[in-house]
Amino acid sequence: MRVAVIGGGVVGLSATVALLRQGIDVWCHERGEPMAERSAGDTRIFRLAHACPDMVRLAGRSRALFATWSERAGVALVDEVGTVVSGAEAGGWAEAMAAAGVAHELVEAGSPRLRLPAVTFAGPALIDPAGGVIRVDRVRAFLVGAAGARLRPVHVDAIEETASGVRVRAGAESDTFDAVLICAGAGTSALAAGVGIDTPRVLEHHLRVSFPLRPAAPAPLSCWITAPADGVLGTYQHQDGPGSWAVGGDVDPALVTWANGREAAEEASLAAVTGYVAEHLPFVEPRPIGRVYCTHNPGLGDGLQFARRGRVLAVHGENLMKFAPLLGEMLARSAVEGSTPENAGPSVA
Ligand SMILES: Cc1cc2nc3c(=O)[nH]c(=O)nc-3n(C[C@H](O)[C@H](O)[C@H](O)COP(=O)(O)OP(=O)(O)OC[C@H]3O[C@@H](n4cnc5c(N)ncnc54)[C@H](O)[C@@H]3O)c2cc1C
Repeated sequence: MRVAVIGGGVVGLSATVALLRQGIDVWCHERGEPMAERSAGDTRIFRLAHACPDMVRLAGRSRALFATWSERAGVALVDEVGTVVSGAEAGGWAEAMAAAGVAHELVEAGSPRLRLPAVTFAGPALIDPAGGVIRVDRVRAFLVGAAGARLRPVHVDAIEETASGVRVRAGAESDTFDAVLICAGAGTSALAAGVGIDTPRVLEHHLRVSFPLRPAAPAPLSCWITAPADGVLGTYQHQDGPGSWAVGGDVDPALVTWANGREAAEEASLAAVTGYVAEHLPFVEPRPIGRVYCTHNPGLGDGLQFARRGRVLAVHGENLMKFAPLLGEMLARSAVEGSTPENAGPSVA
């Protein structure tokens, strides 16, 4: 069997590596550097905490597979500093974790159990002890190494069903496969539409900004998800390097809409996030020292969405890094069996 994976982000590489372990003749097509678009940067947040028990269970399976990857890589791929979820969502997410039977703790804001760069915030807070920082730099090295020469540096122009298989066209070249996985991130909707699969097209700009931690900050700090409250941004935050704290915010959608252009959206996000840090994080200097930009399809939340037409399967969703090892296994199995994984979590409106 020959399988083409389109996209060498974390999802496509995970699927490629899972297929290679099954002895499948798989080729991963990537138009640029691997893991340089939505998978760019060196860190992400891992959490079991989700809004519904199914997603908590899926995250648990992914965490176990991260452990397997870590063994194979010979280095820890998740730093287990815990993840805290605060604000309106904490209670409901705690219930989902309880229903899934995983360890968690609900505490009041200001509890000494919390290791955050803030003193006060809208409580209560949920502690997810299995959460932590995904070391994307190490994941990238592991996956690129494992995919090896199976990474093809090409821009795929089109995918077409033919009588003998699925033709993948890249410039003047074409190759035919028994199955195709579209894992092309921002490029997915254009390629999928060519074979009649509809996936979200609307894109938004997003920026995560890093700031210096003040020496008095507690160590190690937990990752932190804050819900929006009383005009204060919802954010996600974590330590992304020695002495460095990364913050991404749910900036007003009008400021980051695609039509505004990347530069204006980055500037607006930078101002909003820096303002939040100055006002709410006493252990962080509001002085930007780094940024990671990406696009995303707004409104997807934490869901995993799959769509198949014939021999082609497309995947989309947001916050996919934490599910990467699991997605790799699911996509590999589906490519071989010709099946479609069940959707999970919220889908786009
Ligand atoms: C700042 C930021 C913070 C985030 N925080 C978190 C977090 O805390 N936790 C979490 O789990 N997730 C988080 N995410 C989301 C997560 O990183 C992404 O969901 C995940 O990396 C997506 O991986 P992907 O493989 O689907 O997409 P990508 O990494 O974008 O990979 C798609 C690849 O396809 C290639 N491609 C596209 N079209 C073509 C074509 N026609 N031909 C050839 N190649 C093509 C692209 O070059 C790209 O490399 C965050 C993302 C960002 C940017």
